[in-house]
Amino acid sequence: MVRTLAVINQKGGVGKTTTAVNLAAYLAHLGKHVLVVDLDPQGNASSGLGINYRSLQSGLYESLVTDSPVYDHLAATEIDQLHVLPATPDLAGANIDLVHVDSREYTLEQTLATVSSHYDYIVIDCPPSLGVLTINGLVAAREILIPVQCEYYSLEGLGQLVETIDLVKENLQPDIKILGAVMTMYDERSRLSQAVFRELYRYFPEKIFRTVIPRNSKLAEAPSFGKPILLYDRWSKGSRAYKRLAREILSTEI
Ligand code: ATP
Ligand code: MG
Repeated sequence: MVRTLAVINQKGGVGKTTTAVNLAAYLAHLGKHVLVVDLDPQGNASSGLGINYRSLQSGLYESLVTDSPVYDHLAATEIDQLHVLPATPDLAGANIDLVHVDSREYTLEQTLATVSSHYDYIVIDCPPSLGVLTINGLVAAREILIPVQCEYYSLEGLGQLVETIDLVKENLQPDIKILGAVMTMYDERSRLSQAVFRELYRYFPEKIFRTVIPRNSKLAEAPSFGKPILLYDRWSKGSRAYKRLAREILSTEI
């Protein structure tokens, strides 16, 4: 059975894409067949995996709005067993196009159902909003991963996020659950980081990953080379942390 994980936080720049890309790369490295779905019109997950999304003929958008097979729009990556359903610039239009579609919240779920049997994991990188694309991501997923940046303002908005997840669960997709929150850009020397960590327990008691992602410049450099950290600097602190996160998630397989 495939596990479908949505990486979500409506706050911008908290490490969603970094987490989606590097977690997916390590899951593939550890033997799984993995698909990354780039649900963000910014296309960061696609470019971070070496796909020049501006030169693509098609991607996720065409999979969502046309009847063509999803396979026609998939892209391979440097890592065997890791594929991407890339964002192209026209994905931004999907917000508007989908408004007129019946049961538009289920479009991504229906699209992914046609390929899901070929994968062990599908990792969906959501945009920083709670718009129709993100709602599609939530409905298509069964498990939700919430990156939280170790920063003073980062807890603001988590209440709204949890509320949105509850609403989706009640009205659109009863089968979703929060897999956990993962702390990103953690600086062990900063008292603030520690305070944020403690505070996070109030929102997600028992649902915080033991793995904490440190602030690490290698993680920020890797996307400019179109590589996940595993191929860019495998022994960096950031790389080892994402490997641990992948292992932690594998250990929750049933
Ligand atoms: P958006 O909301 O725009 O989609 P995001 O939540 O996907 O952003 P990222 O793009 O993953 O966030 O990260 C934001 C920035 O922080 C990027 O420049 C990224 O390279 C950098 N970054 C992410 N995680 C780390 C880290 N652990 N250490 C250092 N830099 C990081
Ligand atoms: Mg992103």
